[in-house]
Amino acid sequence: MIRLPDSLVRHLFEPLWDRYEGSVRLATLARLRQSQWRSRAEIEAGQNLLLRQLVSHAAATSPFYRSRFAKAGIEPSAVRSIADLADLPLLTKDDVREHRDRIVSTAYRPDQLVLAKTGGSTGVALRVYCDRKGIQLRAGAALRADEWSGWRLGQPLASIWGNPPRPVTLKNKVRRLVKDRVIYLDTMHIDDQAVDDFLAEWRTMRPGLLYGHAHSIFILCEILRSSGISLNPSGVVATSMMLIESERRVIEEVCGIKVTNRYGCEEVSLIACECEEHRGMHLNADHNIVEFLRDDGTACAPGEDGRIVVTELINRGMPMLRYEVGDRGVPSDRDCPCGRGLPLMEHLTGRVADFLVATSGHRVAGISIIENTLTRLPGIAQMQVIQAEARLLQVNLVPGSEYGRETESALIASLQDYLGDEVQVRVEQVAAIPQEESGKYRFTICRV
Ligand SMILES: [Zn+2]
Repeated sequence: MIRLPDSLVRHLFEPLWDRYEGSVRLATLARLRQSQWRSRAEIEAGQNLLLRQLVSHAAATSPFYRSRFAKAGIEPSAVRSIADLADLPLLTKDDVREHRDRIVSTAYRPDQLVLAKTGGSTGVALRVYCDRKGIQLRAGAALRADEWSGWRLGQPLASIWGNPPRPVTLKNKVRRLVKDRVIYLDTMHIDDQAVDDFLAEWRTMRPGLLYGHAHSIFILCEILRSSGISLNPSGVVATSMMLIESERRVIEEVCGIKVTNRYGCEEVSLIACECEEHRGMHLNADHNIVEFLRDDGTACAPGEDGRIVVTELINRGMPMLRYEVGDRGVPSDRDCPCGRGLPLMEHLTGRVADFLVATSGHRVAGISIIENTLTRLPGIAQMQVIQAEARLLQVNLVPGSEYGRETESALIASLQDYLGDEVQVRVEQVAAIPQEESGKYRFTICRV
């Protein structure tokens, strides 16, 4: 592959591509670079303005919301802020599955919408549309978050995914050569040859950003570390929600810089991302309103773990008002030392489907279990805990060189400590933890 100078791509090909596509992507990036420094109050005023516009648009053009507003007794013109929507039922994944065509705005023709399909933790695909301008606005916000990692527009990318997309059409091949400039490592087929090929491409392209699921980046870095090879990107962005501390350290050792943890989903795009301070994740408040709710539906206090509910303000093709993402996280009222006015989320607690249930009935975040066993006990390279029945845990474990009876006993004791003494633990040694179809890894799976 030919490597064009970064400045040429940044100043010529990137803007030309937007002009060719009639896209507001880079204009959005320029706007968001400015708006991130506005005060909290100014950002909130901007959110409320977009919310009022979206609510009136949804009431006028979405049959689903028209009847929801009426049933909830909400007068669309009276909505001034998200608090005015407290009586609007949450938009669940089941709602999206059952009523998708009625949620879509009648102001858009099918060819003006882009489909995003998600795997979904239940295995049933969820299909969500976004209008073309919304896609461009999302892309602009993603670029700003990419820049927080240290990457600069115009630098090539290295993407670590399962089943990465390959350019097929001529347009996409040209785009890959002059603009996107991405090299891929497919984590579905990772072996010595694949890593060698990837490294050869890396040396030619010298990517500025290493990007992918946290655990996939970790697997690559673990292989490189054992061979004494280091990488030198300007930024590392981990997009999987489970960035395990021990894995983070390996990635940072191999790449020589801090990992930028990011959180989002296909349905509403980027939700939160760390800045260069790495002290919590900034909410993408220019484009979203994020609520953290208790189980009774009231708002969490700062520092209190709750269900994450997102209203995406920029998708007019298929308005997503109070969408329950299926994850839990902790809101914050801290100011970030970086000075940005975008509010912070302390951290993500995990995917609801990844919480295990203790015999006493309380739920335990999968990541806490993994971090307190995998990281602390010697000889566990990787593990996955599946709660097959209320009192039965299946542990798939990749043993390291120090693994032995003592570790196994300690592991079982620790899991029983978390979930209850009556819980039976079956440990099975495996060669690798399998990925899901999307290339994502799940460290805990709750089937009860
Ligand atoms: Zn910050």
